[in-house]
Amino acid sequence: MKYIGCHLSASAGTLAMVRTAEKIGANTFAFFTRNPRGSRAKKEDPADAAAAMAALGEKGFGKLVAHGAYTMNLCTGDESARDFACGVLCDDLRRMAALPGQYYNFHPGSHVGQGVDAGIDHIARALKKALEPDYPVTVLLETMAGKGSEIGGKFEELKAIIDAVGSNHVGVCLDTCHVYDGGYDIVQNLDGVLEEFDRVIGLDRLKALHLNDSKNPFASRKDRHECIGRGSLGLETFRAIVNHPALAGKPMILETPNELPGYQGEIALLRCL
Ligand code: FE
Ligand code: FE
Ligand code: ZN
Repeated sequence: MKYIGCHLSASAGTLAMVRTAEKIGANTFAFFTRNPRGSRAKKEDPADAAAAMAALGEKGFGKLVAHGAYTMNLCTGDESARDFACGVLCDDLRRMAALPGQYYNFHPGSHVGQGVDAGIDHIARALKKALEPDYPVTVLLETMAGKGSEIGGKFEELKAIIDAVGSNHVGVCLDTCHVYDGGYDIVQNLDGVLEEFDRVIGLDRLKALHLNDSKNPFASRKDRHECIGRGSLGLETFRAIVNHPALAGKPMILETPNELPGYQGEIALLRCL
């Protein structure tokens, strides 16, 4: 089964997103748990969450991949900012418990000069604390392009976080634009990159993908998403990805520069590759 979807607006609630997803041919989706560039969260609505869970089951959707705010930097050098980010993470996971079994993906963060090891240490501490109540949610660390002082541009960094947390509620979301920009050549050697992922992290930890083409060339460390087939990855790369046996059954989320009609077209395109 191919589970393909895109980012949807959460403003009308979770059940409304299930309905929208269905209309555009999606059978999974992503949404921001709060304002992506701020920290405000929506009012909780348990009845909406319960109705959405029932609809997801009825319609045979794959797992949802919620996305944490971009502003949540768990490894900033400033202690009070770090505590704030950790509080946001704890609150997000508590909220995700209303959608049991779904995924919560986030950007590991930027260490802004403290060094990779200190950054990894901060992220692991925050995750340990946030996972302590044992909510029914798996957090996914997103593979990053490695721009600036971003953590997560190398599989080894994600593995170090996973080991330091020591929980099986931690997985990885592979972003195709980010890994290619970060120097993993999924265009020429998808199998080799997946083998490397398996060797370093373990494919059992790979839970979801973000499908994005890239505006920039290989290893540019830039992170600018492009529509499917129009960037440096190209359509054949996506054909290989959506049909790869090691990736079968995993939710694949578009984060391409599109509105709903554009997403609908890309979902249809990916389904017939
Ligand atoms: Fe992301
Ligand atoms: Fe992404
Ligand atoms: Zn990106």
